[in-house]
Amino acid sequence: MRRLGVLGWPVAHSRSPAMHNAAFAALGMDGWRYQRLPVPPHLFAETTLALGAGGLHGANVTIPHKQAALALASQASDTAQAIGAANTLTFLPDGTIAAENTDAPGLMAALGAPVAGLRVQVLGAGGSARAAVWALLAAGAADVAVWNRTPERADSLARELGARFVRAPEPADLLVNCTSVGLADADSSGSLERSASEPPGLNLLGLTFDLVGEYSNVADLVYRPQPTPLLAAAGAHGARTVDGLEILVAQGALSFELWTGRAPPREVMALAARAG
Ligand code: NAP
Repeated sequence: MRRLGVLGWPVAHSRSPAMHNAAFAALGMDGWRYQRLPVPPHLFAETTLALGAGGLHGANVTIPHKQAALALASQASDTAQAIGAANTLTFLPDGTIAAENTDAPGLMAALGAPVAGLRVQVLGAGGSARAAVWALLAAGAADVAVWNRTPERADSLARELGARFVRAPEPADLLVNCTSVGLADADSSGSLERSASEPPGLNLLGLTFDLVGEYSNVADLVYRPQPTPLLAAAGAHGARTVDGLEILVAQGALSFELWTGRAPPREVMALAARAG
């Protein structure tokens, strides 16, 4: 039996088990299983080492462990090192741990079009924003502006990675939401009226319905069954949209290939993630 899983806290909402187990079934990989691995932060290192010693083959890593995962690994890809976080661990036969970051190439793959020369507005300054800003700059974006609710975090992220700090979102060719706004029902309620009742989810991002119309391409890392307020507004303006599930599947497919050496069945994974 080859065991894989997703380390997180909380992790109950994760679509990764459904997605990877569907891929194993589609490829007839009977001996492979992928499960949720809820681990609180103070137990992350010792639990992960014990799971590796116990025969775990690999793991995805989600909130809040991505930086700790990189620190724990004995070897890391250039991408994971440059971003400062890992979302994929592989437990090697010699007892060591290899770290990779598939969030960055996953986002680029999900965008589905070159970003070279584009102006991009990134919202957020957490772990996924770091991966996105790094990936966009590495792919040749002409300008990457970073806005965040807590401006100091956006300023320091922008300085560190060579992006541009902004105090309010600016018009651009592409908007990428890397905050968790839109995840909770509390910040996604409301209609798409252009009035005093602007969708609260947009206001939390420094946006209004009209401002969303300034972006012809909009990607939202948040994933949920129904469109986020941001993607609903972007769709209403006729923008090309990429949702969080497309990004989840793209990063998951890269992790799957890394662990198994097999070509991932992306359609199967996408259907399973959406059915989740
Ligand atoms: P994180 O490190 O905790 O960062 C959270 C970000 O959201 C920060 O910039 C924070 O701003 C902002 N934020 C939180 N609540 C806010 C609010 N009420 N108003 C305005 N801003 C708020 O999280 P992360 O790892 O970057 O993940 C962010 C989101 O992306 C999560 O929903 C996660 O599930 C999703 N994600 C999806 C994928 C995928 O494959 N689709 C991959 C990675 C992450 P402050 O700095 O001001 O607190």
